[in-house]
Amino acid sequence: MELTDSINVIKGIGEKTQKLFEKVSVFSVGELLTYYPERYDTFKDPVEISMLRDGDTGVICASVSKISEPSYRSPKKILTCTATDTGGSIELIWFNQPYIRKELKIGYHFIFRGKVKKKGNRLSMDQPKVYKREDYAMLQKTLQPVYSLTAGLSNNTVRKAMQQAMALSVDFPNYIPDAVNKEFGLIKKSKALEEIHFPKSTETLLEARRSLVFEEFFLFRVFLNLMSPAKRNKIPGIKLIDDGTSQEFIEKLPYSLTEDQNKTISEIRSDIASGNVMARLVQGDVGSGKTVIAELALLITAKNGYQGLVMAPTEVLANQHYKEMKSRLEPFGVKVCLLTGSLTKKEKNEAYKAIEAHEVQVIVGTHALFQEKVIYDRLALCITDEQHRFGVRQREALSAKGEKTHILVMSATPIPRTLAMMMYGDMDISTIKQLPSERLPIKNCLVGHEYRPTAYNFIKKQVSEGRQAYVICPMVSENEDSNMENVTDYSKNLQEILGKDVVVGKLHGKMKPEEKDRIMREFSEDKIDVLVSTTVVEVGVNVPNATVMMIENAERFGLAQLHQLRGRIGRGKWQSYCIFMYGQESDEIKKRLDILLKSNDGFYIASEDLKMRGSGDIFGIRQCGEMYFKIGDIYNDADVFTEAAKAADSITEKEFDRISDRLLEDSAKQVFQFLNNYVTI
Ligand code: ADP
Ligand code: MG
Repeated sequence: MELTDSINVIKGIGEKTQKLFEKVSVFSVGELLTYYPERYDTFKDPVEISMLRDGDTGVICASVSKISEPSYRSPKKILTCTATDTGGSIELIWFNQPYIRKELKIGYHFIFRGKVKKKGNRLSMDQPKVYKREDYAMLQKTLQPVYSLTAGLSNNTVRKAMQQAMALSVDFPNYIPDAVNKEFGLIKKSKALEEIHFPKSTETLLEARRSLVFEEFFLFRVFLNLMSPAKRNKIPGIKLIDDGTSQEFIEKLPYSLTEDQNKTISEIRSDIASGNVMARLVQGDVGSGKTVIAELALLITAKNGYQGLVMAPTEVLANQHYKEMKSRLEPFGVKVCLLTGSLTKKEKNEAYKAIEAHEVQVIVGTHALFQEKVIYDRLALCITDEQHRFGVRQREALSAKGEKTHILVMSATPIPRTLAMMMYGDMDISTIKQLPSERLPIKNCLVGHEYRPTAYNFIKKQVSEGRQAYVICPMVSENEDSNMENVTDYSKNLQEILGKDVVVGKLHGKMKPEEKDRIMREFSEDKIDVLVSTTVVEVGVNVPNATVMMIENAERFGLAQLHQLRGRIGRGKWQSYCIFMYGQESDEIKKRLDILLKSNDGFYIASEDLKMRGSGDIFGIRQCGEMYFKIGDIYNDADVFTEAAKAADSITEKEFDRISDRLLEDSAKQVFQFLNNYVTI
């Protein structure tokens, strides 16, 4: 049996089930086996009936006090029973399960587990599962995998399919050399998979998980090494010499650069003049001033007669960079053009022509930049901004456009340096820690809904002083989740509350690109005072005049994401304020958000977040927008990452060739899948 075989070879998977699995991207046996549980359920201790609440999945230990026979006349055969414990009683209801009757005995205790409903002040449980007490005690020792599902695909179906798949004798590629397996005490793949889907104990589960995580990180690292720009470091590159224009550029800036900015610039300058290809990651917290560094590198490139490009993850950001770079660079005789997916066909064709004819030296855009139609003329520098949104694939495709292009990656992902070294071990790293000196630290508060009127008055006051504000809601419209604030209703209400003197705008990902751009432009031109938005403004947007960031349902976002959002303010000379508004209150939420109140430092936040999530959490919450490995978690499994990276870096040349050949040899689809998993690195 091969991993690439279709899942229809599995017993019990018919056409219908196959379709359902396809919806969750499970096509092959291999994909099924690595469809890892999202979490594990445990069988909880029973509680008293009086403790049950509407909507819970409750577990009680109660004696049967009354049974009413299923009525064979009614079309739905309904069996009801009353169960009682010391504190109260509850009605249990089964439909079409008359056989349950045989299990129940009046006066005996059973464990019942099911969904609790409340009608008036009467509690009931629909279709509860019935267990003998001793059976339940056995179950309590086990962990039950819970898979991510789709309509029609039940947890049970996945479990059954998994059981069948396990029974097949699948041929697993042995990617990892025996010596490495031995050194790190890894367990066999088939055994690890068995354990991850059907754990025998928490201990064995963790052991199995570690082996799978190790393999994933190991292969990732081999893969990185395979296409590593580190090797390129020794590849001769285009020499780009600074003729002094950059000094002129710096002198013309309305501010003086920070020490860290200057250091980074000189590192880049010496990289690109060295005669070797540059592969550098510039890591700087939000607002630390990375754009100006990109501009300098582009200026030097253009002055040497070459082209440089900047790729941004969103159209909003590409537009912003385009505008700024145009105004900054054109006074130095450098022509800038924009290339994004939402340009008209005509505009695109014009851009293609100008690029090919070298009428422009700097090209700013989105992923549209590396479509085949674009032909660059002497491309020497590729900059990607906010790299964590891009994958290796894009990075590579981009550098393939120019043969020996220098690569500069700008990232604000606040990952600790050691982690960055592991992730980007193939790149040189510059870190910008200082924020421009004129900045005042952002003032933060964490408040509940009762604070809203005060917050709105505050926003009104800031607007009357000429400033602007963001309000972030997690949802676009009400029908997504009515428990959370949504941009559509919120912006309407807020406009009413703030009155005619304040212009409220809205922005979300479901708008057309042109509309998004228009709104962002109006906001940056101060034609909109308050922007109600989803997290589309999260990455890189720069409107220094905005001084208030209010985040609704702050508990719904990851810390790194909240920090990014907060980074949209505090970019100018005015005091800025961040209001974290929670929709739901709990000690844990407060403790988590408290980290943000204590610090404005992204690196500190990332490391505290890491500590808090700790190791107890087997499959921790994954933060949005970060690198998704299938099973590994770059924060929680940092130690496994170190081990795996070390192991991968120290294998022999021969092993390296064997593994990478094997990786590439395995059917095209699997390799594609492999690449796909890493698209969000
Ligand atoms: P990020 O690092 O998040 O990409 P930006 O490059 O967008 O940050 O810079 C944020 C703001 O800070 C911009 O308005 C920029 O003009 C300004 N800025 C950059 N460097 C300095 C500096 N040394 N002093 C003052 N302001 C600066
Ligand atoms: Mg930026």
